[in-house]
Amino acid sequence: MKKHNFYAGPSILSQYTIDKTAEAIRDFAGTGLSILEVSHRGKEFQAVIDEADALVKELLNVPQGYHVLFLGGGASLEFAMVPMNLLEKKAAYIDTGVWAHKAIKEAKLFGDVEVVASSEEANYTYIPKGYTIPADADYFHYTSNNTIYGTETRFDPESPVPLVCDMSSDIFSRPVDVKKYNLIYAGAQKNLAPAGVTIVIVKDDALGKVSRKIPTMLDYRTHADKGSMFNTPPVLPIFSALQTLRYYKELGGIEAIEKTDIAKAKKLYDAIDESKMFMGTVTDPADRSIMNVCFVMAPEYKELEKEFVDFATSKGMVGIKGHRSVGGFRASLYNALPMESVDALIACMKEFESKH
Ligand SMILES: *Cc1c(COP(=O)(O)O)cnc(C)c1O
Repeated sequence: MKKHNFYAGPSILSQYTIDKTAEAIRDFAGTGLSILEVSHRGKEFQAVIDEADALVKELLNVPQGYHVLFLGGGASLEFAMVPMNLLEKKAAYIDTGVWAHKAIKEAKLFGDVEVVASSEEANYTYIPKGYTIPADADYFHYTSNNTIYGTETRFDPESPVPLVCDMSSDIFSRPVDVKKYNLIYAGAQKNLAPAGVTIVIVKDDALGKVSRKIPTMLDYRTHADKGSMFNTPPVLPIFSALQTLRYYKELGGIEAIEKTDIAKAKKLYDAIDESKMFMGTVTDPADRSIMNVCFVMAPEYKELEKEFVDFATSKGMVGIKGHRSVGGFRASLYNALPMESVDALIACMKEFESKH
């Protein structure tokens, strides 16, 4: 049976990425060796990382004066590296969920943190608005897409200070005005590659401004100076990331991808809104994520949630159970998920609803 992969992360990758990765595991770039067993210093891998770097810059329109880094440690390590490298006195953060919360916790280890707003009281079902970002902050950190709750800020916020953003779960789903940012980071396993590499886009001028000592491996300058080759980078995830980036370019770039992403999300939200049985957990359309669609059963059907997951699973849907802190269902519609899978899920919801 065809599987429809709605996992939140690690998550669906394009067939192109999987096929090219599988080929390279057998024979990498005609070397007669597997990508799993070659030196990262060889010219073949250097070509991979160079092209990946160039494609990130091209797809996201990264201006001069920024470095693209391919690091280990996941987005979670960036929660600490960001303040370690950029926070001298005070930083501003917005609390839009568990990941934002974790970023705040790490930042507090390095300086003052002003939390400008939080939607915790409503279990993070909306994005706070009308807050003030202090003009004396070193940066303002936000999480563009809140993977667990299905809320998203689909624009670059107005800010009197440079932005820093955790784009782990929506990078490459919309054009970004990179020059407004001192730093953007994203773990790869939501929209790009297998887990193991984190993309960081950092403004050169933002570095070297803090007075603390920074361990070599945690200093962005180390990796910027060495082209992400100070030590052994995550070779295989970077190779896969390159395949996805090529695929994104082939699809027509980020604007084209965004159009499809919006269409996929709209179709599913419309189906949820039209149904009597299902309801979205994020009610303000402006805050609804186009990457992670969270929904539950209306109160009178609540006891059918488990049965629906079983039913959907029997029809080939994978990974639609909601995060434990939200409950219900979550369908992640990352770039690689085809419209066909959205249609299959909607058909499944309709069939279930007509049976009850
Ligand atoms: C998944 C996720 C993370 C955590 O990523 P790791 O690579 O597992 O550390 C952080 N932020 C957001 C928004 C995420 O979706």
